[in-house]
Amino acid sequence: MNGGIVMEIRTRFAPSPTGYLHVGGARTALFSFLYARRHGGKFILRIEDTDLERSEKIFEDQLLDDLKWLGLNWDEGPDTDGSYGPYRQSDRLEVYRQFANKLVEEGKAYEVYAEPDDIGKLREEILAKSQAPHYTREMLEKLSTEKIDEYKMSGKKPAIYFSMPRKDWILNDLVKGNVNFTEDSTGDFAIMRSSGLPTYNFAVVVDDALMKITHVIRGDDHLSNTVKQMALYESFGFPLPAFAHLSTILGPDRTRLSKRHGSTSVGEYRKRGFLPEALVNYLALLGWSHPEQKEMMSIEEMEKLFDFDRVSKNPAVYDEKKLTWMNGRYIREVSDERLYELSKPFIVPKMFSEEEYVSNKKWIIQSIKSLKTELEELSQLPEKMEIFFVKPEVDHDLFVNVEKAGVVQAYKVLIDLYESIEDWNVEKITEATKKAVKDSKIKASDFYHPLRKILTGKESGPDLVEFIFLIGRENTIARLRKFLEG
Ligand code: GLU
Repeated sequence: MNGGIVMEIRTRFAPSPTGYLHVGGARTALFSFLYARRHGGKFILRIEDTDLERSEKIFEDQLLDDLKWLGLNWDEGPDTDGSYGPYRQSDRLEVYRQFANKLVEEGKAYEVYAEPDDIGKLREEILAKSQAPHYTREMLEKLSTEKIDEYKMSGKKPAIYFSMPRKDWILNDLVKGNVNFTEDSTGDFAIMRSSGLPTYNFAVVVDDALMKITHVIRGDDHLSNTVKQMALYESFGFPLPAFAHLSTILGPDRTRLSKRHGSTSVGEYRKRGFLPEALVNYLALLGWSHPEQKEMMSIEEMEKLFDFDRVSKNPAVYDEKKLTWMNGRYIREVSDERLYELSKPFIVPKMFSEEEYVSNKKWIIQSIKSLKTELEELSQLPEKMEIFFVKPEVDHDLFVNVEKAGVVQAYKVLIDLYESIEDWNVEKITEATKKAVKDSKIKASDFYHPLRKILTGKESGPDLVEFIFLIGRENTIARLRKFLEG
């Protein structure tokens, strides 16, 4: 509350389109989204593409698409209207130039006429004196004097450096608590490059301030940058937003999460057939916990509960097995209609044509549902569905066992019973199968276990009667006959 006016909470996710959306980035986006939603605020998407060489449109498009897939819809962003745009940094270069000039005019920043190589040399010199490479205005202006004329004659632009006020700083971080930065933690730093592009620390402050961001939520790899950003806020007289630095995500071996630990990009999980709600649910638990330790929850539930008091300072450990398990649970809970929609890209055109997928809808839903308990990723569908289409090889050892146990005759009776069923449905198949077991006086497991193996080629799988129904009478009898004829 501020004099009776409630401040609107505005959070942002500010990815650089230099690669695919990583699970760490997705978690940052999720927490920013949740915090804004929790407080009825706004979630903003800003594209930080000032690294022109590494930024690519294809990454930007993919980022937007992955965020939408996760359900992290933004209120303002590069593709929407908003009062604080443009929301892509490469469209804001003039804004940075103006703000940098303002600092120069006020004597808080200064021009440096030096090539990156010259600065590199200076850095080496400072390091050789075993000092941290902190630049001062004096050092940089000394470099400049040699180049000023050359730059001016050739029309080359200087870089702009910020005069870092030499004092101690305290950051009161929503996750990390109080973080102290001593006077010597940083020196002067570049805010504009001679190319006319702003540096990250500068652009991020100008944008967060102009876009009225109230909470800066990001990975703790940016913690050490924050002191520079705080100093810039102060120089401009911008109000300081709140900061929340999220802990690193580690692999199960406690090293930084990387490819070695499994898939690390949202796109890979999409391809593997993860449900967005499963990934969102798992990501939320990477550093945040439900007040009652509940594990499975929807994004709507999280929106009501999310706050930083339950966000851990300690690194979160990424466990792909748990995520996969969770996805399996979500697959089991999904409605038939959605399961049908979600499964499509995994089996069309591999197993069915578009038309077949439509005309066999009922059968397809039922067959996928019969596999639900074993599915952890929808990309397993083609392999798991093989049992419906591929006749298993005859297992001769199994035949010997079946013969010994006296089941052969029972299977012949079963064939007759199946042949006499008028209306091929689960109920009738159950009835016939039970009758075959009962009449044969064979132990049920001696009858059923080999039968499953004969029909599916596997030791375990979907409900057997349902499977028999789904492959149909002809296929069932053909598979049994093939086996009995050896
Ligand atoms: N573009 C920066 C990154 O992707 C944003 C960091 C921030 O949120 O301030 O790391």
